[in-house]
Amino acid sequence: MAEPAALGEKSSVVVLGAGVSGLSAAHALLQRGHAVTLLERGDIGKESSWAGGGILSPLLPWDYDEVVSQLALRSMAGYAAWIEAIEAQAGCNAEFWRCGMRVFGIAHTETALAWCRAHDMEAQPESGQMGASLWLPGIAQVRNPRLVAALREAIVRLGGVIRTHSAAGAVKTASRRVLAIQTTQGSLAAEQFVIATGAWAGVSLPDASNQSDRLAGVPHVRPIRGQMLLFKLEPGVLDTILYRNGLYLIPRRDGHVLVGSTLEDAGFDKSTDDVTRRRLHAEAAELLPALAGLQPIRHWAGLRPGSPDNIPVIDRHPDFDNVFVNAGHYRYGVTLAPASSELLAALMDGTPPPLDPAPYRWQAALQRRWVAPLQPT
Ligand SMILES: Cc1cc2nc3c(=O)[nH]c(=O)nc-3n(C[C@H](O)[C@H](O)[C@H](O)COP(=O)(O)OP(=O)(O)OC[C@H]3O[C@@H](n4cnc5c(N)ncnc54)[C@H](O)[C@@H]3O)c2cc1C
Repeated sequence: MAEPAALGEKSSVVVLGAGVSGLSAAHALLQRGHAVTLLERGDIGKESSWAGGGILSPLLPWDYDEVVSQLALRSMAGYAAWIEAIEAQAGCNAEFWRCGMRVFGIAHTETALAWCRAHDMEAQPESGQMGASLWLPGIAQVRNPRLVAALREAIVRLGGVIRTHSAAGAVKTASRRVLAIQTTQGSLAAEQFVIATGAWAGVSLPDASNQSDRLAGVPHVRPIRGQMLLFKLEPGVLDTILYRNGLYLIPRRDGHVLVGSTLEDAGFDKSTDDVTRRRLHAEAAELLPALAGLQPIRHWAGLRPGSPDNIPVIDRHPDFDNVFVNAGHYRYGVTLAPASSELLAALMDGTPPPLDPAPYRWQAALQRRWVAPLQPT
């Protein structure tokens, strides 16, 4: 029998997936007075949201569709305040740091500069030993595992419930409503549901009674693997993000340096390989010679929730009136979290959306296709 989720002043909501997309959605909904339960198959935030780098910007922002820029720039403008509020609620620090990003090897500097001017992004052309570069002083980063921890704590303190090791399975439905989700820990009923299952959001969920596909997966969302290396230097050796030809270095305040990444179409396989480790290490050492004599202290891979053109789906599910989606943020789910969760919560409550929701609609996603072959980057 379905166990009803706790009822709050507003509706009860069950969020599927406790990565940054599910956690930020839960946080936004709790702040609007909903009673929220999060269902996580594994541990909180241990998939893409842990594996990523935490740069708070598209890597070469001028290379993306305006639709991505709108969501990204809104998030970036509000990020410091968003984090500050979460940290205050949680009582812990997510290491937000406006460390800037230096971009080498830009093919069309004038185009990049024109984009920055048009979008109010500070950018200074520079030249040095490594050649010409563009300095973007406003770009920030967050230590994503710490953001996840802060969100988790804030959610719990706001009264949210998080069930880990509880995979969402089949759905019980009636007409255009989902009534309950079966989990490995029993059945959970709610008035509304949010799908935020990252790279798994493209997978349909079956019907509880006959196991046929019932809750269709989000169009074209699929896993795109990214491998990362971690080094440990003395604090201060690197104090800004570096980027060249798809490779980036991200310093943490305690001297850790992350090096990424790859874009690999390898299904749900999170394995790593030595050829990639050596390539990433060699390219990183060209940008930061201090890395040449060191061995990485860790090498891992994560699965991004890939979507064509990096455009997420933030919308009501087309088949069910009480199911919503916040998925497909691909390379920038940490960056896009504040504006995405704000938009999702507005759509769920029927309040004015903070930006035009049309490009993030399910129907819009149906029109998009994966076209370009993936390049290692
Ligand atoms: C190598 C790498 C580098 C990156 N660098 C950056 C960066 O610098 N900046 C940036 O903004 N973004 C970056 N990203 C992208 C970013 O990490 C993702 O876009 C973001 O974390 C996606 O969050 P999510 O919550 O949608 O997915 P996830 O974090 O993957 O969370 C989805 C969750 O759903 C759970 N789940 C799945 N199925 C079920 C089910 N049936 N029942 C219950 N739970 C389920 C999973 O266990 C998982 O915890 C990077 C990603 C990678 C891999």
